[in-house]
Amino acid sequence: MARPEPGAAVYVEDLPVPTPGEGEVRVRIARAAICGTDRHIFHWDPSVAPMLSPPVVIGHEFCGHIDALGPGVEGWQEGDYVSAEMHLVCGRCRACRSGNRHVCEHTRIAGLHRDGAFAEYVVVPAANLVRLDPAVVPPHIGAFLDALGNAVHTVQAASSIAGRHVLLSGYGAIGAMAAAVVEFEGAASLTITEVAPGHLERARAWAAARADSATPIRVLDPGRGGLVEEVRATTDGGVDVVLEMSGAPAAINSGLELLYPAGEMVLLGIPSRPDLLVEDFSRRIIFKGLTLRGVVGRRMFATWEEMLGLLARGLDLEHIVTHRLPLRDFHRGVALLDAAEAHKVVLDPAQTD
Ligand SMILES: [Zn+2]
Ligand SMILES: [Zn+2]
Repeated sequence: MARPEPGAAVYVEDLPVPTPGEGEVRVRIARAAICGTDRHIFHWDPSVAPMLSPPVVIGHEFCGHIDALGPGVEGWQEGDYVSAEMHLVCGRCRACRSGNRHVCEHTRIAGLHRDGAFAEYVVVPAANLVRLDPAVVPPHIGAFLDALGNAVHTVQAASSIAGRHVLLSGYGAIGAMAAAVVEFEGAASLTITEVAPGHLERARAWAAARADSATPIRVLDPGRGGLVEEVRATTDGGVDVVLEMSGAPAAINSGLELLYPAGEMVLLGIPSRPDLLVEDFSRRIIFKGLTLRGVVGRRMFATWEEMLGLLARGLDLEHIVTHRLPLRDFHRGVALLDAAEAHKVVLDPAQTD
C-alpha cells in the first residue's frame, strides 16, 4: 500500500471486496485502461475536480468476468465475460425518455461519482452490462471499449463516411481509433492532423502500415504551414467530413475552413477554454451551409452493438495498445500519456511486474 505522493490526488490502497446490491453485479476485472478523464483526475484538473468527492475508486474503462450477482439480477451468470457502460442514467428525464440516454440530465459516472474500475473488483448495475465474445474481443481490447465507443459514436454521427473525404484533427487514443474506423468504412481519403511529436509519429507509422489501403491516408503537421492548400489539392476542393478530436481552437477553425460546402463537422474534442472564437463565422459556416454536431458518450446501447459488430468484422486496433502495465503502475501510465508517448495504457490487476 502506497501513501499519497506529494501533489497527487491518486494513490493505491487496499479496500474490502465490494458487495453487489439490488440489481447489481460484481465483476472481477481482467483489464482496465487509462482514459484522458483519469489523467485530469490525477492532475486534479478544474474540469473534473468538482465532480469528485473522494475517496473514490477511479477508472471507467474495463472488462472482466462476473463473479457475484446481487438480488434480483436475471439473465446473467457468474463467469460471464463483460464490459459495461459506466454512464449511469436516470431513465426518467426527457432525454432518457426520448431515447437519448447518452445526454441524460442526471448522468452519474462510475469512476467519478461512485467507485470505478481501477481495482480487482467493480460493482455495476446489471442494466449497464455488455456481453463480450472472447473470440472477438480479447481482454486487452475489451479494456477500452468505452473509448472506442466515443470513436465509433463520432464517426457514425457523420451522415456517411464511405466514398467521402474525411479530415480527422487530433490523433490521441480516441482519434487513432476513429481513424481506424474511417479507413475500415471506406472513406475516399483520410487526412490526419496532429501536433504532438509522439502522436504524429504513431499516425505516420499507422499510415505506412496501411499503405495498401483503398483509402489514401495522409498525415500532416499543421505547424509546418501550407495545410489548407495541400488538403484542398488532394480532396477535390475540400473535405466532406471533419472529425474534430483535439479541442484545439486552431484545429476547429482550420477544419471549418477546409470543409467543402454542405459538409459536416462532428466535434468530440473539448476546448480547454469555455469560449471559442470562430473566425470568419458567416463565410465559414452559414454561407457554406455546414452541419455542426457535438458528440458525447455512447448511444445506449446502439453504439456498443456497432462497435462489437466492427470488431467482429475485423476492425484492427492492436496498434492502439502501446503499453501494458500492472495496475499499481498507474502513475507511470499517466506520465507516458502526459508526454504523448502512449495511446492506450492497459492495466492488469493480476500482473505483478
Ligand atoms: Zn474513458
Ligand atoms: Zn435521464
